[in-house]
Amino acid sequence: MSKYKIAVIEGDGTGPEVIQCTLRVLEASGLDAEFVPIEAGYWAYQKFGKQVTDSAWKIIGESNCVLKGPTTTPTGGGETRMKSVAVTLRQKLDLYANVRPCKSRPGVITPTKFTDLDFVIVRENTEGLYKGVEYEMSEDEVVSLRVFTRKGCERISRFGFELARREKRKKVTLVTKANILQVTDGFFTNIFNKVAENYSDLEHEDIFVDRANMYMITRPDYFDVIVTSNLFGDVLSDAAAGLMGGLGLAPGANMGDKFAMFEAVHGSAPRYEGQKKVNPTAMILSAVMMLKYLGENKIAEEVERAVDKVLLEGAKNKEIVTYDLDGTATNVKMTDEIIKRME
Ligand code: NAD
Repeated sequence: MSKYKIAVIEGDGTGPEVIQCTLRVLEASGLDAEFVPIEAGYWAYQKFGKQVTDSAWKIIGESNCVLKGPTTTPTGGGETRMKSVAVTLRQKLDLYANVRPCKSRPGVITPTKFTDLDFVIVRENTEGLYKGVEYEMSEDEVVSLRVFTRKGCERISRFGFELARREKRKKVTLVTKANILQVTDGFFTNIFNKVAENYSDLEHEDIFVDRANMYMITRPDYFDVIVTSNLFGDVLSDAAAGLMGGLGLAPGANMGDKFAMFEAVHGSAPRYEGQKKVNPTAMILSAVMMLKYLGENKIAEEVERAVDKVLLEGAKNKEIVTYDLDGTATNVKMTDEIIKRME
């Protein structure tokens, strides 16, 4: 029997491609794991009428964690209203912290002058505007509710401070719009400040999302750990991915107290499906986060080092990196190059 059982969601669109690349790297790394593909995704909804089938939930329940490829969600307003697979899993498995590091990678050309990016977005992952409480009041009026709970605000604040301590960071910034959304974000700010009293070794502050958005572009070194609500975190983390050089490079983890799921920040990029074109780095670095979660730090470091070697060499040799890095390689070729550089 393997040391770990990992439930794998291949995803939709370009998801299966980046998952295959990632599994090849993990298999080459010598990780002692059984990878079990499960029925989850828009494809599963179309085939079985459920975006996560009963058998998938069962396998998840028997696994150490989930490795998830990006999945497609049909846009509301169309015929199909399917709740996002990611949101379904995050809420049902109570994976309340979405951790999205923003880190410069060697050799990658970025849209700003900042080459030493290093901050982490900790996004509340189970409530806020993504709680899914929406109504059609009439043909002419629709409403979405923003739901915050004391438990939700407390635990995400604590998670941010604990992560800051663990990673020897200095400052935790709460991002809200408490001047306008006074009830919900005012509540969150008060709870965050109360939690901060237990972390006198760390600086803390709260700023509004509009200013945070500008700072992210003009002075990203202002940030160390950002704690924020679901929608703001979603929007800010794509901006952070842009800073790093694109969505193809941005990994993520969905963390709960007892379980975790690892997925890239990007979506299923369906327009590139079948072209083996999209960058596998974000998904592979999400697997690196999974390896660290499992305590396999040596393997994690080895994989990350190999990815960085390819990115660095790729600055000169465009045949080994994908189109988003101005390269010509398929994701299969880029994965071959990563595996070649593993010890
Ligand atoms: P997207 O992230 O899929 O793609 C936006 C653009 O970013 C792409 O067209 C491409 O130019 C670039 N990109 C994305 N991934 C890349 C990669 N690995 N390498 C290089 N470039 C990459 O966002 P979208 O087009 O807004 O959404 C497409 C679908 O994905 C939607 O159905 C959406 O709901 C879903 N989605 C899923 C998740 C998830 O599974 N967690 C997250 C975001 C979006």
